[in-house]
Amino acid sequence: MEKPPTIDTIAAIATAPGRGGVGVVRLSGPGCETLCRAITGRLPAPRHASYASFRNADDSVIDQGLAIYFAGPRSYTGEDVLELQGHGGPAVMQALLGRCLELGARLAEPGEFTRRAFLNGRLDLAQAESVADLIEASTQAAARSAARSLSGEFSRLVHGLADELVELRALVEATLDFPEEEVEFIESARVAERGARLLEALARLADQAGQGRLLRDGMQVVLAGRPNVGKSSLLNCLAGEERAIVSAVAGTTRDVLRESIHINGVPLHLVDTAGVRVTEDEVEALGVARSWKEIHRADAVLLLLDAAEGWTEADEAVFAGLPAGVPVVVVWNKLDLPGARPAGAPAAGIARELRISARTGQGLEAVKDALLSLAGWHTGNEGVFLARERHVQALARTRQHVQAAVAALGQLEILAEELRVGHEALCSITGEFTPDDLLGEIFSRFCIGK
Ligand code: GDP
Repeated sequence: MEKPPTIDTIAAIATAPGRGGVGVVRLSGPGCETLCRAITGRLPAPRHASYASFRNADDSVIDQGLAIYFAGPRSYTGEDVLELQGHGGPAVMQALLGRCLELGARLAEPGEFTRRAFLNGRLDLAQAESVADLIEASTQAAARSAARSLSGEFSRLVHGLADELVELRALVEATLDFPEEEVEFIESARVAERGARLLEALARLADQAGQGRLLRDGMQVVLAGRPNVGKSSLLNCLAGEERAIVSAVAGTTRDVLRESIHINGVPLHLVDTAGVRVTEDEVEALGVARSWKEIHRADAVLLLLDAAEGWTEADEAVFAGLPAGVPVVVVWNKLDLPGARPAGAPAAGIARELRISARTGQGLEAVKDALLSLAGWHTGNEGVFLARERHVQALARTRQHVQAAVAALGQLEILAEELRVGHEALCSITGEFTPDDLLGEIFSRFCIGK
């Protein structure tokens, strides 16, 4: 028999870098028990916090804190896990981590705890992804939705559909063995009807996942307009109290041309064309080129105009420079000014025309509604689970294949193959497809007797 691979014990500082009241070194693997005894002098009862001194090899004290031991499989990773909670300063944490490494633990790779949780069946792939999404969530709505995915809400819906697909496949594959009865079988099993129902359910799930992806990734909006039309004013109004929580991770450079806000929890990444100008400076030119790249990836453009001045040649020039094929919302600003005449913008290539005053806040709701509807956002925050582009793509592939299957009802081999590939695409979301599942399913449901 093949020997199972040796599992090493991994260690990492689990709390964010910097200083804090508490810092945690987390370990996972078979060495936790030995390490705990070596560092704290004993092994506490599983899942009980125990106050201890964390000691070096020479018995000197590194720190005093809490040790919590989780005996596998009842732990985050499914392995033995040890958490050492000390004082959250970089020197203390490094010393504690160093001690663990000295005792034979290995530095964990990014995401390795969660990867082990997935490999040990504590989480499926979609849930594992939502751990990262929950940590990275920049809005409350995104965090709530990630928590929903983590609790398995999305995975349950995927599993529900996968079960239906498996049932359909089982029927079809069994029929392959009785080709002479093919036609009646397909009819009596109401494959067409089941396929249509499945497609409807897939469309619903794809829509939900699309909403979840929007909450996670948001939309890119270009804020265009000549100077002084009120771009910054509108941005501030839109941001209001809903300014996105921008993480101050050391090392990230702040791009002055971008600003992230959120509306109803949907992140909006605003790119300001004001910074996009012709320049001789090489470095700046690089920045400008990058901005243009982003502008061309935009989901929507807000073209701001000054209602007191009407449509001018300068507006015409800005309009002409906008990327083609991206919906443009014309926003007449400064409606509060006397003599405002918000008219004259070209009708062609304009998705919507709105009238607002960034000063009084008039018409602001309409701007928010227009942006959200252009993004395809149509649900409230409740009930949305966070999803990724990968999930949206996998659902699209599943639908394509089920559609192809339903269209090939008369050709059993093609029908079976399309369902198989569709099933695989669906299960790639939760990362747990194994052909053995299908075999088990077939044999448990049919007594083929051959
Ligand atoms: P930007 O250059 O396009 O970013 O424009 P700003 O937001 O800096 O605004 C330019 C000027 O217009 C400022 O003096 C603002 O106070 C003023 N402004 C912006 N929005 C309005 C508005 O709705 N009504 C009025 N009366 N003034 C506005």
